[in-house]
Amino acid sequence: MVIIKTSHEIEQIKKSCVLTANTIKFVAEKIKPGVKTRSLDQMAESFIIKHGGKPSFKGYGLPGNEFPASICVSINDEIVHGIPGDRLLQEGDIVGIDIGTNLNGYFGDSAVTVGVGKISKIAQKLIETTKESLFAGIKAAISGNYIGDISNAIQSTAERNHFSVVREFVGHGVGLKVHEDPQIPNYGRSKTGLRLEKGMVLALEPMVNEGDYHTIYGQDGWTVKTADGKLSAHFEHSIAITMEGNEILTLAGES
Ligand code: MG
Ligand code: MG
Repeated sequence: MVIIKTSHEIEQIKKSCVLTANTIKFVAEKIKPGVKTRSLDQMAESFIIKHGGKPSFKGYGLPGNEFPASICVSINDEIVHGIPGDRLLQEGDIVGIDIGTNLNGYFGDSAVTVGVGKISKIAQKLIETTKESLFAGIKAAISGNYIGDISNAIQSTAERNHFSVVREFVGHGVGLKVHEDPQIPNYGRSKTGLRLEKGMVLALEPMVNEGDYHTIYGQDGWTVKTADGKLSAHFEHSIAITMEGNEILTLAGES
């Protein structure tokens, strides 16, 4: 069931989203060669807690298989859900940082992909295209349009640039829980699916691959990787559908 939020709820969700965005900004600025992914996790966790929130990914999942960290760090061929650990960032890597916050019971969710030092031309193009796909999706996310319009905008932007979109993982409703209905695939046909309306809060999150879209799981049971070992990038914003269009909630700023 899709939860339509009141303006009071959207205000509260926005506060959490600003914290999410500020945390991403704080962590992204620390990315450089030689940094251990676990230390990114630790600095994100303390930043979130210092600002009155809780990392919403920590402990997320089915009993016995809870996500063990506060943020996801997915490097190069890792698409999403990478677990921070002892790995050191290297010059030329691309790093996806995905962060969820819970502030007073309201949830924000956002992700970026950044290069470590100097990266290859194809890596740069992949990052730019993924971001462009996200913004094409956001542009289509207006009252009266359909979920399929978002999906199609994302897919066509990625494919026009000769990349592919991951099928198994999707955008989602967000705000009162980490993941809510509806699911928002990153591929699909225009004018299909649920109609968008004011008060929906949605996390759009294209995962775009350099090669084909097939995925495999890493040995930790969480990390999702490209089956062909090529690069993948991920961007995500939480947005609210408004009367006039939409508002991106996960923008850094004063909280
Ligand atoms: Mg996310
Ligand atoms: Mg998400």
